[in-house]
Amino acid sequence: MSTLYVVATPIGNLSDLTTRAVEILSSVPTLAAEDTRVTRKLLNHLNVSPQLESLHEHTSPERLESLVHKLETGDMAVVSDAGTPGISDPGSSLVAAAVEAGHSVIPLPGPSAIVTALSITGWSFDRFLFLGFLPRKKNEQIATLESAATEPGPVIAYESPHRIKATLANIQKTFPERQLVICRELTKLYEETFRGTAAQAISHFKEPRGEFVIVIEGGGNTPKEEISDEFIMKTLEKLETEGIQGRTLVEQTVELTGAAKKRVYRLSLSDK
Ligand code: SAM
Repeated sequence: MSTLYVVATPIGNLSDLTTRAVEILSSVPTLAAEDTRVTRKLLNHLNVSPQLESLHEHTSPERLESLVHKLETGDMAVVSDAGTPGISDPGSSLVAAAVEAGHSVIPLPGPSAIVTALSITGWSFDRFLFLGFLPRKKNEQIATLESAATEPGPVIAYESPHRIKATLANIQKTFPERQLVICRELTKLYEETFRGTAAQAISHFKEPRGEFVIVIEGGGNTPKEEISDEFIMKTLEKLETEGIQGRTLVEQTVELTGAAKKRVYRLSLSDK
């Protein structure tokens, strides 16, 4: 019986490759990779050349069978383009097939964008909910977000630069008052961490570029009492500085805070 090594690779900074990952990538005869062109760059950096086999997200049963057959002839490692295989990436089907065939499977821990982002939220994440990439269709995306509303821990989603604006608009609708931590280009040159509400994020990321992890404050971090007057006042003030007044001011504040219209109206008067 052989061993399948599941190897996490950097999510940007090559120095995050572990010593153990280097040892395994340098010694296995075969490496299953999500995109062999991407992985070849990593292997060139290490100056090693195991035989590369491709492993896509929708790898056919026949392809999996042939990889397991290959595993019978010697140890194999599996990597994805970046981070931990199997997390919004291919890898788990090969693990399942290897287990089924009686091979041993050994994990080599390393980077993953979820944990990297969570580690700098400053929030408690004894538990958290990872949603992966959210559904693309607006209604389905909102339904998925709504289903996470009662999660006490942080809620995490991966997002691409092309869709982040639409996703933030849906988060604003679903969780207007919650804080977000948005990590862009983790471990890379243009690494950036944004902290604030979805409305603030929309004005911040005007021309989004790079890779994003969105962490939404969990229900457990939201004060149990109703949205505070202070939060509503701050929202009113912010919108006023943007020149918004009257009925539109009240309506937009209701939308952003989720507070009752009567209350927002009363506070908008006391603001004068
Ligand atoms: N397997 C990877 C992991 O363990 O994190 C995730 C792969 S998934 C196909 C790619 C998504 O992960 C990106 O669209 C982005 O949401 C997130 N991601 C990966 N690298 C990132 C980085 N350096 N900064 C921010 N987000 C990143």
